[in-house]
Parts: sequence; structure tokens; C-alpha cells
Amino acid sequence: MNIDLKNQTALITGSSKGIGLAIASRMLDANANVIINSRNNDELTKTASMLTKNFPNKKIIPSAFDISDIDQISSWFNNIRKLSGPINILVNNAGITHREFAKDIHLNDFDKVLMTNVNAVLKICQEFFTHLKGQPGKIVNISSMISNLARKTNIAYSSSKGALNQLTRSLALEWARNKINVNALAPGFIKTDLTGSLLKDDEFNQWVKTRCPMGRWGNPTDISSTAVFLASDAANYITGQIIYVDGGITATV
Ligand code: NAP
Repeated sequence: MNIDLKNQTALITGSSKGIGLAIASRMLDANANVIINSRNNDELTKTASMLTKNFPNKKIIPSAFDISDIDQISSWFNNIRKLSGPINILVNNAGITHREFAKDIHLNDFDKVLMTNVNAVLKICQEFFTHLKGQPGKIVNISSMISNLARKTNIAYSSSKGALNQLTRSLALEWARNKINVNALAPGFIKTDLTGSLLKDDEFNQWVKTRCPMGRWGNPTDISSTAVFLASDAANYITGQIIYVDGGITATV
């Protein structure tokens, strides 16, 4: 199926690298214009130049902002809206982790993960809802298979992604009649900076390959096509779903 996102503009949070960058590239490839975002302005500017070279006829707007700065989300969203015009697609991809055993984790660190992975997502979705003014829209939240499975030292991350799944379902049912589709994509183990330390751990690396029915880590490009599908008209009758893109891991015991 050829997906065409012509005349659509997508805001993708956390898209200077990793999964977010792969989604931005795939959206551009499908003819959308994109707003890319991350905290580090230098890295974001480099990413914007690289994308502009690859997609010279597309509108690519870099917007550095820390989405965990909840009180500033309204004015940030209004600023980018003025630069980009109507935004039709929102991909909540920015996410962080904090690895620590449950008995040791400080509530401030737990809160920080929840603030970025859940609270900020709700606030950005609220801004997007207001911005759409009754026009249809698509929201794709990047969850994780760890929303549904637990791993030691990952209590903050797995709690946040579990909450994100329920946030996705709750928004989906409240906004279905507004023609806003809200779905989540739950990746398995994907090679990015976020998993860099795990990739360097030979034992863990081997375990992933044994645990995953497909016998390999995923790449960011394994995720991006599903995100583009969920953002397109082809997914008009899909809402409130959590789609696992994990090489089959969650299908096994
Ligand atoms: P990554 O390589 O670490 O990239 C994260 C991106 O988000 C970067 O562009 C980062 O840039 C940005 N970011 C982080 N915090 C931000 C904030 N507060 N405000 C704005 N931007 C922020 O991570 P990734 O692996 O691509 O992960 C992307 C998403 O996929 C996350 O939600 C993650 O939970 C999810 N996921 C990943 C995996 C995996 O195996 N990699 C598996 C399941 C789910 P700055 O640091 O410059 O802000």
C-alpha cells in the first residue's frame, strides 16, 4: 500500500535521533511536512539540515524544547503552530528512562520519568485537541512492550508506559466522535542511544536474540512504517489500540 500524507503536517516529539528521527524521515518520504523536536538545539539543527538535504522540497521545522517543562507547553505549541500552520498528526515519541532497583529509586527520579512519558503527553494532546477545532487528527503515542511486561530496575519506565497505554485508550474513546484517532505503538528492543548500554552488554545482547522469535534487535526503521500507517487515512477505523512491534517477543512465554 502506498501511503500519501500530502498536505499533512506532523509534530514528532523527540525526533533528533533514534525512533523519532526514523518516523520523521518516513513521514517526509510519505509527503508530509514535519516539525521535529528535542532538548538539544545543536543536535536538532544538525538533524534538520540532514533531513533538508534528503527532502529539499519539504517543510522541516526544528523546535528545541523540553517537553517536561509542562507549564510552558501551551506557549511552545502556539509558537510552532504559528510557524507551521495546521498540524494534523501528533507523534508523542520523546521518552526517557531511569534504571534503578525499586527499593532504591527516589521519588523525584520516578516523577521525572512520569512527567516526560505521561504528563507531558497528556498536556500536548490537550493542546492538539484545541488546535484541531473539530478537524480530524491522528495521535500516535510511542509506548513500549515494557508497558505490559516488567523488567528489574525499570519500575519508573514500565509504570509510565503502562499509564501511557491507558491514557491512549481513554483519549481514544473520549475523542472518537471528534474524528481524532488515538493509538499507541509498542516497540520491543530497538537499537538506539536509549538502549546503548544494553547493546554493549554481551550477555544481554545474546539474551535478546534468544528471547526474540525473530532472533534480532529491531531497528528504528522497523517502527516508522507502522507509525506512518497509524497516521494515515488507511487507519481511519482504528482507535484505542496498542500495536506491538517487537519481533514477536510479547507473543511468547
Ligand atoms: P533516544 O534514541 O534516546 O531518543 C530520544 C529522543 O527524545 C531524542 O531526540 C531526545 O533528544 C528526545 N528527548 C528526550 N527527552 C526529551 C524531552 N524531555 N523533551 C524533548 N525531547 C526529548 O530514544 P529512542 O530509543 O529512540 O526512544 C524513542 C521512544 O521509543 C521513547 O518513548 C522510548 O520509550 C520508546 N521505546 C524505545 C525502545 C528502544 O528499545 N529503543 C523500546 C520501546 C520503546 P534530547 O536528549 O536532545 O532531548
